[in-house]
Amino acid sequence: MARDKAGGNTCRVAIDGPAGSGKSTVARKLARRLGYTYVDSGAMYRAVAYRALQAGLDVNDDADKIADLAAQLHFEFRPVDGQPHLFVDGEDVEEAIRTPEVGNLSSPVSAIPGVRQHLLAAQRQMAKEAGVVMEGRDIGTVVLPAAEVKIFLTASVEERARRRQQQLREAGIQRDLDEIIREQQERDRRDSSRAVAPLRQADDAKKVITDDMTEDEVVNVLEKLVREVVER
Ligand code: C5P
Repeated sequence: MARDKAGGNTCRVAIDGPAGSGKSTVARKLARRLGYTYVDSGAMYRAVAYRALQAGLDVNDDADKIADLAAQLHFEFRPVDGQPHLFVDGEDVEEAIRTPEVGNLSSPVSAIPGVRQHLLAAQRQMAKEAGVVMEGRDIGTVVLPAAEVKIFLTASVEERARRRQQQLREAGIQRDLDEIIREQQERDRRDSSRAVAPLRQADDAKKVITDDMTEDEVVNVLEKLVREVVER
């Protein structure tokens, strides 16, 4: 286990789960409470999709070019107004990567093996610092298989869609619930059935179903798990 500057134990926390499970908000809050580095691996896939769109690349025809593009990008999470934002080559892309268009494209982009290979290396590098909360689909299974704390966060399809609708509403985007459910099911199906690093609960991950829990209740459960490990 790594140590922080004060000599205390720190650990690696892997949080995986499907779209809309509440991972991002929970992982951010947990990282803040623990004073750990936060890594949103989904944001990195979204950023590759965003840059591929900007470059006019097609996900079916230009897979190799998209992988080359991913290899050249430099990723960094930096706080902006107290919230972690993803910077790519120095550009704050946090807002641009949250559109439904980029979200939908990020799933096929993340199925390109060369893209995964480059982002895997970047993600492992980010976890070298003491104390990290990393969230995604394959963190506990592939990126950080030796993480000391592994969580699989999930909720029913309807609840996940309702949460996504609310998030989009807060961003000024109105979407039909049935449409979100359809998109989410398609994304889940693709993420779970792809050949490389599919969405899957690690054998040693703790499953937390969040339907009837508030965000703070989920963060409390996770914080307790981390503290049990680092104070052992
Ligand atoms: O979590 P988020 O919805 O932002 O992720 C965007 C997309 O990136 C997901 O649909 C998934 O296809 C992909 N992803 C992945 N592996 C991760 C994180 C995200 O394939 N570790």
